Amino acid sequence: MGNEITYPLEFSYALNVAEVCKVLDTDQTSGITNAAAEERALKFGLNIYQSQKKKSIWMMLIGQFKSPIVYLLFAAASASLYFGNPIEAISILVVILLNALIGFFMELQARTSMRALKKMDQIFSKVIRHGKLKELPSEQIVPGDLMVLEAGDMIAADGRIVQFNQLQCDESALTGESFPVMKQLEAISGEAVLADRINMVFKGTAVMNGNAKVMVTATAENTELGKITSLVDHAQVTTTPLDLKINQLTKKLIWITLIMTGLFSLSAVLEGKSWLVILETSIALAVAAFPEGLPIVATVALAYGMLLMARKNVIVKKLSAVETLGGVNVILTDKTGTLTENKIYVELLGFPDEILRVSIEQGVLKYLSGSSQSSEENLQKLILVGTLCNDASLEDKNSGKKAIGDPVEVALLHLTEATGTSSAQLIAAYPRIAETAFSAETKMMATLNQHKNLNFVAAKGAVESILEKCTQIQSGKETLPLSADQKAAIILAAEKISADGLRVLAFGFREAPGISKEHYLEKLVYAGMVGFLDPARPAVKDAISTCRSAGIKTVMITGDHPMTALNIALKTGIATQQDQEVIKGGELPDMGSLSQTWRKRILSAVVFARTTPKQKLEIVEVYQKAGYLVAMTGDGVNDAPALKQADIGIAMGLRGTQVAKEAASIVLKDDSFISIARAVAHGREIFQNIQRFVIYLVSCNLSEIFIVTLLSFLAPQTILLPLQILFLNMVTDVFPALALGLGKGDPTVMQKPPRDPKLAIISNKNWLIIVLYAMLITASVVLAVFYCSSFVSRDPDILNNVAFITLAFAQLFHVFNMSSNHAGIWSNEVTKNRFVWLALLICILLIFLVYLFPQTRLALDLSVFSIDAWMVAISASLLPLILVQLYKIIWGKANGNSLPGKTGLI
Ligand code: ATP
Repeated sequence: MGNEITYPLEFSYALNVAEVCKVLDTDQTSGITNAAAEERALKFGLNIYQSQKKKSIWMMLIGQFKSPIVYLLFAAASASLYFGNPIEAISILVVILLNALIGFFMELQARTSMRALKKMDQIFSKVIRHGKLKELPSEQIVPGDLMVLEAGDMIAADGRIVQFNQLQCDESALTGESFPVMKQLEAISGEAVLADRINMVFKGTAVMNGNAKVMVTATAENTELGKITSLVDHAQVTTTPLDLKINQLTKKLIWITLIMTGLFSLSAVLEGKSWLVILETSIALAVAAFPEGLPIVATVALAYGMLLMARKNVIVKKLSAVETLGGVNVILTDKTGTLTENKIYVELLGFPDEILRVSIEQGVLKYLSGSSQSSEENLQKLILVGTLCNDASLEDKNSGKKAIGDPVEVALLHLTEATGTSSAQLIAAYPRIAETAFSAETKMMATLNQHKNLNFVAAKGAVESILEKCTQIQSGKETLPLSADQKAAIILAAEKISADGLRVLAFGFREAPGISKEHYLEKLVYAGMVGFLDPARPAVKDAISTCRSAGIKTVMITGDHPMTALNIALKTGIATQQDQEVIKGGELPDMGSLSQTWRKRILSAVVFARTTPKQKLEIVEVYQKAGYLVAMTGDGVNDAPALKQADIGIAMGLRGTQVAKEAASIVLKDDSFISIARAVAHGREIFQNIQRFVIYLVSCNLSEIFIVTLLSFLAPQTILLPLQILFLNMVTDVFPALALGLGKGDPTVMQKPPRDPKLAIISNKNWLIIVLYAMLITASVVLAVFYCSSFVSRDPDILNNVAFITLAFAQLFHVFNMSSNHAGIWSNEVTKNRFVWLALLICILLIFLVYLFPQTRLALDLSVFSIDAWMVAISASLLPLILVQLYKIIWGKANGNSLPGKTGLI
């Protein structure tokens, strides 16, 4: 190995496997060597698209200048230069630069957070290199790698199939074909379109069934998916509903500005003011109205919130999910692993003649009631089936290897070992010659094994599914026909065991020579059942009750037995009554023509059992049609459509397949319901924070518009200058807003009903409050100016400076008005937010620094003024804060200080 290879390799579907291996200089059993892999990674690059590679730091910096407001400011700077005011021109440029730097560092921070998130959400692939099976990040796959695929995997590169077993792939992402494609091994002659290259697998498609080994023929841009650049670019679009809402808001503000500017210009022209003043003031108004910091603060708040969530086991894959999360009003959850611990123990053995409580203590099977003497033959068969019809493997204490596979199957292997039988020896003595994989539809799994000159069929699954295939029953040493009465008695016994919360699995077998691979799942002998204990997670009950008080309904949809489902539903508080209706998948009618009665029944049920993945999807749709915002959990390949359909699809990080994770908008690292409740709370907090700083920023901007317009009529000589407004907007407003965006949020978010995510960020009521806040700030500035002119100084320059300082401090103090306030004026989520204090410190320092140096004073048209004037400015700037807090206290007293956030303010 180490020879030159032909890459990219066209027409690999037309070559046979040996030819492909030759051209790619690789081996079809041991793959490439580690050295060759390293060499190829350097030569052909990582398996990611160019557009996903780092956006350069320079591009990010330049990006900060690409905004209409910056263009306007450049125009203003040029105008200043033209009218002979170079200092103003330079100052505007400095503010633009300062603003770009703040934006740049914020974006850098957001990008770091997003990177950290991406790392957690990395997709891994299995490859054979140097003859060893390895799991590595998909981006490290190189041409010539021997990739190992199994059901549930997302395919990370294009490849030629080398070996396969019942492989079926969902290629709809690439070809639009919705039926899974059956694959083949042989070379295809002539030119074939993509959909006909059935000896190949493609990046971005999913394995729905079977398994395979494939030789990687193309990575990154050279893959079929990579060639469709539009698709690649599409994946890059990250416009969230929030972005759209912020754009809508900005448009509204632009209209307000235009109206205000129009009004001002009209009156100014009528009054005969100079064009220079009109122009300057119009620019001041435009700058005042535009919330420059808004989009970037929103991005930083989202990215930071997502990082915090990730630290708490919730990985948000789609930015838009954060906002939707806050509005979720029903969670459709599965049971195993999400509500339960998924640590499964064998607790009961159910034979036709007796039911035995058992436990495995230090690797030995103990009978807590009775003994298996009369059912010895059944136990032996049950153990044989449980071991052969099993894809798990046990932990190995010597090599430190952990147990792998479905916990139910691991528990069955433990049972085998606990009876003194070696599972490895059984597996070796009965090699598998065919299998029917477990599916959530059939609710069973089966294998066909060879033992000497006999075939042995092993089947396990839901009691109803197994009994359907059984015609006989193992009774003691005899095999007797299975009567309908016996079937009914077994089903009744299973029901009783399930009612105790145990998960029940039934076992069937057949032993005969020459059983065909096509028809082995028939005429089985019923051997017995096993009851597994899977306890509910202890903290789930609290999480469900938190969701309930947050106006969120929790519904369990499981593939398990109705009685097991009900037991867990009662233990976790999803159901409250013993006789709660459990809707079984089998009784659900065709959802296409659902009657009103059934619709109501579905919407009022809290437990669905024995459902299929298709029914899960349909239940999501029923809820959505009824106007609910649905969060839905899932882990299997077949759950993907439901996860996509739900407003928030939640995949399980531990037991979920890659396909489910790909379809979901959230992945839970610990699979637990508790994390879902936490995610919803976080989503609400993040949105609340965003709403808060938007209200803060917009009320500040509006106050500037009011002040400029009002002063232009009342005291034109004192009017705020564009640069002063620019300084407030682009520098001092941004820090408190950012601090609000990074806050911990109001602890009562989960005591309020969900918000409708279709609503604008700022409701009409919020607008009213914003106008009120803006008027208060305006009043304090106007008051300061008039008080000063009456009692301190009539110098227009001083009056302008007093207006500027009053406004600056009033806006800074205004940040404390953004608390929900139920926790008191001195101790609430804003006063407890250390970022707020830091922001205030930075801003006050900035103002004093500007005041300290003659050059910066000159730039902002400031002069050194008396302590008296300072006192007036600071005192007036406290007025909006004092008035709002007084209102909240009085309102709180009048209303028993109880309901959070009901002051009518935030
Ligand atoms: P949830 O949907 O809440 O995760 P679940 O895990 O019980 O519940 P499925 O995995 O669809 O749902 O299982 C449905 C039924 O299939 C189980 O009740 C059990 O009877 C049977 N079953 C589960 N796992 C296996 C398995 N590995 N082999 C055979 N049968 C199984």
